Amino acid sequence: MIPRSTAGAGGALLLHGGPIVTNQGARATPQGGVTFDRLGYYVRGALLAVDGIVHAAGAEGEVRQALRALPEPRRRRIEELDLRGRLLLPGFVDAHTHPLYVGDREPDFAARLAGRAPELGMAYTVRKTRAASPAEREAALSAHLRTMFRHGTTAAEVKTGYDLRPEGELELLRTIVRVGHAPGMPRVVPTLTGPHAHAPEYDDDDAFVDALIERALPHARAAGGIYADAFCEPGYFTVEQSRRYLRAAREHGLRLRLHCDEFAAGGAAALAEELALDAADHLNRIAPDHIAGLARAGTVAVLCPTTVWYMGVAQPAPARAMLDAGVQVALATDFNPGTAPCPSLQMAAHLGRRLLGLSAAEALVGVTAAAAHSLRLRAGTLEAGERADAVVMEMGDPREFGWSFGGNLAAAVVSAGEAYT
Ligand code: ZN
Repeated sequence: MIPRSTAGAGGALLLHGGPIVTNQGARATPQGGVTFDRLGYYVRGALLAVDGIVHAAGAEGEVRQALRALPEPRRRRIEELDLRGRLLLPGFVDAHTHPLYVGDREPDFAARLAGRAPELGMAYTVRKTRAASPAEREAALSAHLRTMFRHGTTAAEVKTGYDLRPEGELELLRTIVRVGHAPGMPRVVPTLTGPHAHAPEYDDDDAFVDALIERALPHARAAGGIYADAFCEPGYFTVEQSRRYLRAAREHGLRLRLHCDEFAAGGAAALAEELALDAADHLNRIAPDHIAGLARAGTVAVLCPTTVWYMGVAQPAPARAMLDAGVQVALATDFNPGTAPCPSLQMAAHLGRRLLGLSAAEALVGVTAAAAHSLRLRAGTLEAGERADAVVMEMGDPREFGWSFGGNLAAAVVSAGEAYT
């Protein structure tokens, strides 16, 4: 996508002439059963961004009043974008992605479809990522992030996890930081996911976790890490190993999220309450009595219906029970080459409705405000004072959100007040 304007850099941008959902009520209103009227839905709306920040958003008449109140030099430099009846939404936030890798795995998809076990597996992607030059890794991440951005994602959590050596994982963190602040891509929240898979250099996973604790975590903040994450699942990392890694990560100033109970029930979700995780992800096989623990801890359930679809998982996460219990539910792509090669939160929203039973309004909160909350990031709403990240969707009514699938309905993406088309 190319920038149409430079309104973000000292300028002002007015989007008008279409419906808008500002999400202004998303933080105060329970997500379960929410309707667009409670989220700030204006049939004829507008957004005014000044210096990359939302100055006013809502009914077009009120936004134009705010525009007239701007000092004269500002008003003369305003750029306008006519929505022509298209829907304006807050920019999407992807709360779980793995786009920093080299080594796609289509043959594994073909093998699965033929009923065979995948031959390449994550070990292949780890080998290719390790063997790639820094420039090749940056190019791959950049390409993936730009594709996500074109689909409306203006902020994304991005994980390491395809090097599996302490120093290599730190280098991946630095790569995320270097690439993730370029224009025309989502702003990134880097996560050190060292315990992502069995590391070939270590005989047992305990020794690998020890090495990460000793050699990676103490330097993770300085390398740009915000979060730590582990793949806590029977056959991967145990609850005890994950607890050890996450506790050490917290001591080094990282915030915590966790892959939990994706394919098998292993009790990982109990760590959500014990460690007050910001996010517990996947949760297809969460024990029913752990749902209340998520609610008590204020942990966001980051659900990835893309992997449920791609892997043919028979039992998706109990999203309705979570919403009924007062748990916030985010929808994420889990973008990765092995279990969800999907860069689009529009698709995640569709699958959130199709497989998890969310309504259009619940799904919108899932890819915006709830996802942002899982990252403790100020994003996902178009309230005055917030960063002006938005997406113009090729639809006239928000109730169509997550309905149509397979196309990219993002006609324009706005990042910090700058429109890309
Ligand atoms: Zn993942």
